[in-house]
Amino acid sequence: MSTSIIWWEARCPFCGKRNKLAISAKGYKAWTSGAMVQDAFPELGANEREFLITGMCAKCQDDVFGDNDDKEYSFEVTDNEIALLEYLDQY
Ligand SMILES: [Zn+2]
Repeated sequence: MSTSIIWWEARCPFCGKRNKLAISAKGYKAWTSGAMVQDAFPELGANEREFLITGMCAKCQDDVFGDNDDKEYSFEVTDNEIALLEYLDQY
């Protein structure tokens, strides 16, 4: 069983801070092949999946989604804002 991980880095579109998250290379391949993020990364929490999709850090997710579930927010994240930093193979 491979333990390869990828460091996913993105800049939060709300506060501008860069954050990193270790994700499985296997999940990343599944995700980029069209799998839903929750299927590709069942080990990740909701905040972490949201970070992968939108780049939002956990704190801003709390600020935005925290108390008012009925409010709708929209934002755009371009591919350029998400940089794949490192690919680590650990066999
Ligand atoms: Zn943020």
